[in-house]
Amino acid sequence: MRATVMYRAGEVRIETVPDARIIEPTDAVVAVSRACICGSDLWPYRGMEEIPDSGRRMGHEAIGFVEAVGNDVRTMKAGDLVIMPFAYSDGSCTFCHEGLQTSCVQGGFFGIAGMNGAQAEALRVPLADGTLFVLAVGQDDALMPSLLTLSDVMGTGHHAAVTAKVGPGKKVAIVGDGAVGLCGVIAAKRLGAEQIIILGRHADRIALAKEFGATNIVSERGDEAVERVRQLTGGYGVHSVLECVGLEQSMLTAISIARPGGAVGRVGVPQDETMPGSQPAFYNNVTVGGGPAPVRAYIQELLPDILEGRIEPGKVFDRVVGLDDVPDGYRAMDQRESIKVMVEP
Ligand SMILES: [Zn+2]
Repeated sequence: MRATVMYRAGEVRIETVPDARIIEPTDAVVAVSRACICGSDLWPYRGMEEIPDSGRRMGHEAIGFVEAVGNDVRTMKAGDLVIMPFAYSDGSCTFCHEGLQTSCVQGGFFGIAGMNGAQAEALRVPLADGTLFVLAVGQDDALMPSLLTLSDVMGTGHHAAVTAKVGPGKKVAIVGDGAVGLCGVIAAKRLGAEQIIILGRHADRIALAKEFGATNIVSERGDEAVERVRQLTGGYGVHSVLECVGLEQSMLTAISIARPGGAVGRVGVPQDETMPGSQPAFYNNVTVGGGPAPVRAYIQELLPDILEGRIEPGKVFDRVVGLDDVPDGYRAMDQRESIKVMVEP
């Protein structure tokens, strides 16, 4: 079968690899019908050290059909349509029961070194019963892009909103206009936010943010962005900030635009060991939360809104490629030509 392999920064190849197969009795093999390239895939694309020989199998978001199941798999069978969240989890440990599957004691992440990746024709999914979400819908092409976002970006945007304590009447700001930030706009609106300010500057993304419910656009950066958000919020800043980038500057901006007593939900993968903004966060009693989103826990909640057409997060996909064009998809996202690339293997 064919799969996407990254060997080092900037070097993504499509290669023939051994077919995905059942190894553990709790495994399933999923034939990928749609996968995508994630903003977080751009971090290794820009800076990964070389992994000679094996490389790193890429991709952690997928929707597909179960091809085979191990002897201990109970909740699905060959032919079922499933969403594959970016983390695998057993569904039975204390953290899974608490709805934090990304901390599962047996769990882990797809598309990291040594693990399977979803930008491929198929992949082995460990702990299939806990990991995969079986969809009781047919192959409805129009809905598939939005359903695919439940494997990561929509659930991640929702997690940012939940940890930032978004609720009815709240003033909300979103730092970052990538696919997760845009899904954060959807999540904030869905949870009843009164004002939704997005910090971003790319025309195509801003247009989509407005369509999703953003009420204000702030294209400035740094201190000017902080000043602008304060102007838009009666001088105090916002109740809730969704940090969807992960850089030092974006995190500092996020903390600086939170009003006293506010909260920051961060889902951008942090690129630094230390967190900036410690003093303003302290003196303003700003809560900082967030982390890898337990998207498996959120599918049940978000799914009806997609099935019934209230939200359409699949609009974040603005390019569709086959496997052969995945390397060009990385280039296009890296150069901001594309918001998010969908892969149809
Ligand atoms: Zn678990």
